Amino acid sequence: MEQTRQAAFAPSYAPSPVGSPTRESHRESTVAANILVVEDEAAIQELIAINVEQAGHRAVLAGDAEDAYIKVQQRLPDLILLDWMLPGMSGLEFLRRMKANARTQRIPVIMLTARAEELDKLHGLETGADDYIVKPFSTRELNARIKAVLRRRAPQMTEDRADIGGLSLDPTTHRVMAGSQELVLGPTEFKLLHFFMTHTERVYSRTQILDHVWGDHVFIEERTVDVHIRRLRAVLQETGHDRLLQTVRGSGYRFARE
Ligand code: CA
Repeated sequence: MEQTRQAAFAPSYAPSPVGSPTRESHRESTVAANILVVEDEAAIQELIAINVEQAGHRAVLAGDAEDAYIKVQQRLPDLILLDWMLPGMSGLEFLRRMKANARTQRIPVIMLTARAEELDKLHGLETGADDYIVKPFSTRELNARIKAVLRRRAPQMTEDRADIGGLSLDPTTHRVMAGSQELVLGPTEFKLLHFFMTHTERVYSRTQILDHVWGDHVFIEERTVDVHIRRLRAVLQETGHDRLLQTVRGSGYRFARE
């Protein structure tokens, strides 16, 4: 199964002294992104993983492209931090393969490069990376770039409030309001609604919804989606907002703006 950083480095991991434990655990439950760190140098890999987790995300580690490929198949990450120089297949070749595959082509990727020349080459190649970081980088720069890419490419992974069709979802307080009425949702329905409210007016198949909300379409059955859609609709019905969550026959589901 996934080798998470907790499993690999738990004894040496010390949580950030900044922020209360309540705040940290709250963030973990609402907007923690799964970030795949593909880096062969153990020290850098660990440094990145510590930072990613202190920022409230989960780090999944891979030491080479082959390992990264297996981790991606197990669970689709929300973001990949990808080193250029890897043993065996290069990070660049791995990126090309991700972009050539329909399931993985939308995963945001930040390339890590050791030299400025590599960065020049990357810019020239137009490989589809979302951003680039040149080593050595500060933790502040890393966190800022992760945040910017998630905001741009995976808004359901940020703490930004979403306001659609009279519904207001606040990831920081984990509350959904319809006007002055609070809608009480289970954790999965909350994530589902957050995803839909940040990805409106587009049809998503059950497989795509599993990938985006559960991170997995291989081991979870498609009818799981229908079960949670039904629960979400039942709550939205209280205020008539279930009309926004539409079934598109033969295709999947769409969340309308109005
Ligand atoms: Ca390397």
